[in-house]
Amino acid sequence: MSRPVLAQIDLQALKDNLQVVRRAAPASRVWSVVKANAYGHGLDRIWSALSATDGFALLNLEEAILLRERGWKGPILLLEGFFHADELPLLDKYRLTTSIHSNWQVKVLQNAKLHAPLDIYVKVNSGMNRLGFPPERVHSVWQQLRAMQNVGEMTLMSHFAESELPDGITAPMARIEQAAEGLNCPRSLSNSAATLWHPQAHFDWVRPGIILYGASPSGQWQDVANSGIKPVMTLRSEIIGVQTLKAGDAVGYGSRYRASGEQRIGIVAGGYADGYPRIAPNGTPVWVDGVRTGTVGAISMDMMAIDLTPCPQAGIGSPVELWGNEIKIDDVAAAAGTIGYELMCALAPRVPVVTV
Ligand SMILES: *Cc1c(COP(=O)(O)O)cnc(C)c1O
Repeated sequence: MSRPVLAQIDLQALKDNLQVVRRAAPASRVWSVVKANAYGHGLDRIWSALSATDGFALLNLEEAILLRERGWKGPILLLEGFFHADELPLLDKYRLTTSIHSNWQVKVLQNAKLHAPLDIYVKVNSGMNRLGFPPERVHSVWQQLRAMQNVGEMTLMSHFAESELPDGITAPMARIEQAAEGLNCPRSLSNSAATLWHPQAHFDWVRPGIILYGASPSGQWQDVANSGIKPVMTLRSEIIGVQTLKAGDAVGYGSRYRASGEQRIGIVAGGYADGYPRIAPNGTPVWVDGVRTGTVGAISMDMMAIDLTPCPQAGIGSPVELWGNEIKIDDVAAAAGTIGYELMCALAPRVPVVTV
């Protein structure tokens, strides 16, 4: 490893975060959401740290098959179901639980030749208007599916658009109640935000993602600061150059920063080609040699500049944390106008990853 940028994955933090979920939803089983390569953390790298989960939820067959090949025998849920009819033999072979959100999937399931029935999650559109049946259609779809030999256990599923808000699930819950009327079925509704903040939506299976990785579903770290969750990913690097600016000197592309007086800056090996957001403005927090400081100038492809005024002892080789325990990924994301989810998922393949 020559270039000093590095992502460190803390498997103990992942295990501890699963326990936070357990304490938050003690009566529910847990689908650990590991879509998008476990939110950028590496599914193959992290799944066994979550093996105390009840099931894994993800999107694509390749990731589901990887879990089976690694020896996971528990449930696997395909959150968006199958995308084409020709996937059914693989769902059958690998015993995957599938979401059913559209009529064409009902027909495909009806006509499939399976070795054994598949467990299904019938998705109701509770107002997000992405996937799912309208509440008033759920009853008839349910009866149709219930009558099929290819269908095993059935669970009602929905997803919230703004469960980070105190009143964010009231209207969707009313639609879900309408859909569930008379069905007396298990339900799975809660993402991370509802798992933490809306216990009335927990029901049989919760589906947390982001809190397992130690970031906030609201995008604001202070909302989870007392929940016990810990950041799993640390993105670190080192200072590889130092400059001393005079008043009026500019830094980086577009001269987006100018010094107002003499100022030491450090050049860090880390840029947007590593997954750091190029749009991060001057003052985006970074941590160097034990001190919190901020970026200066535009983020380059491979480098960024940081203000060394608060840390005169820092110099070439000083350790830099771009996000992790000291600098929360939510804070970097907020500065860049996005959410921790996007930064995690965008960790670039060129960044070496180590687990601790
Ligand atoms: C991504 C996803 C989740 C997890 O969401 P978080 O906000 O990361 O907890 C749960 N359910 C579905 C359907 C999802 O797509």
